[in-house]
Amino acid sequence: MNTRCPFCGASVMPRSRFCPTCGQALPQSPLRRSASTPIANGDPPVEGALTNSKRLQISGDTLDLRELINVVESSVQWWQRGLSSHAVTREQAARAIDELSQIMRSLSQQLAQGRTTIRVTRRLPALRTFDIACPSCGSGNRANARFCQRCGALLNAAPRYGVGFVQSRALKFHIAARTDTGRVRQQNQDAVYTGEIDLPGQQKAHICLVADGMGGAAAGEYASRLAADVSRAYLERESACHPPLTDEAWQALLRDAVRAANRQIYDAARTDTTRRGMGTTLTIALIVGDRLHIASVGDSRAYLLNLDGVTDDGSPAAQLTSDHSLVARLVDIGQLTPEQARTHPQRNILYRSIGTDPSVDVDTRSEALEPGDIVLLCSDGLVNHVNDEEIVQIAFGEPDPDRAVTRLINLANERGGRDNISVVMVRVEGGRNDERRHG
Ligand code: CA
Repeated sequence: MNTRCPFCGASVMPRSRFCPTCGQALPQSPLRRSASTPIANGDPPVEGALTNSKRLQISGDTLDLRELINVVESSVQWWQRGLSSHAVTREQAARAIDELSQIMRSLSQQLAQGRTTIRVTRRLPALRTFDIACPSCGSGNRANARFCQRCGALLNAAPRYGVGFVQSRALKFHIAARTDTGRVRQQNQDAVYTGEIDLPGQQKAHICLVADGMGGAAAGEYASRLAADVSRAYLERESACHPPLTDEAWQALLRDAVRAANRQIYDAARTDTTRRGMGTTLTIALIVGDRLHIASVGDSRAYLLNLDGVTDDGSPAAQLTSDHSLVARLVDIGQLTPEQARTHPQRNILYRSIGTDPSVDVDTRSEALEPGDIVLLCSDGLVNHVNDEEIVQIAFGEPDPDRAVTRLINLANERGGRDNISVVMVRVEGGRNDERRHG
């Protein structure tokens, strides 16, 4: 949702302070939010058209039939495993599978009725689109901007995002991470890691990750630790010698790193009977210069937060990852509300995870970072108890990232702490104007 410049009439983003076309200072936009402004719960539903290619086409996002079949298969297997290990009763499994079949029947009826559109909830929001970084203040700007929308500086020959290995300025990163067993579980099967990777030319990349293991206490702990170790070592090794130069190449490297972890855990689960069926989620954030590269499998989330707005309609929080869980897909097809999904008994069922299959699909994406951003990674133990609005309020209400992470974990524990809780937070601050070219 764009507004217009009162001086020249050009389109401006709701968060802009200066017109990108004429450079005039803009009146304070009413759309800019403060920490106390409440955010509407859930994404607005959009209509998705069913095309001939058997995909549900949802404005920039897709849900295909293979994914739905995976959801059903994973759900049935999950209950089967629960039954054979006596973790659930036969009645519980029967009731859950009956519920699932009713949901699928409702979906098939919608299709049989000849509906060409199915009501779905859009999963990932449209993020702010920045093509160039201002050489003065480091803020992101659109490709056609002549003046910086944040500081009003002329953007002649401003460095472009995502092209080559260009660092327009020295962004500073304050990183905090913590994992907690919670109030109910005996063991912590989550793993977190934060660290630096040395790149050629005295450059450094920051790596942050969260993995949430499953498959019996010791096995789940082993799987999440192995996923963290293998992917971290792979990224360190490969980017030290041959650092990628484009977003696409960084994403390909991340996918290779996650697949290396997948192979090791899959092999370990096959050869060791005590670890059979183990798996883990894995969400990695890699920060190189002012680019954020994300890879994820499972339901551990990555968020981008900024009080000035991170989406084109000015929302201060955007989830950068899809939850590869049964309940997330049920939200997509309109069978559950996001609020129901948070407490749904089948919310732990993943249809994509690391180590459970010989190969794995890995979601990746790249975004521009700017001063004032917060990148937050977390396991589902946080979001089962704490909603996006509360995450924004605590992340920006507490300037010290260590204390902010602790407050988020404390809040999840106060509300029951049903699962292990892991949070990694990266605060992005502007540095001095520092234009260098490496690689
Ligand atoms: Ca968990």
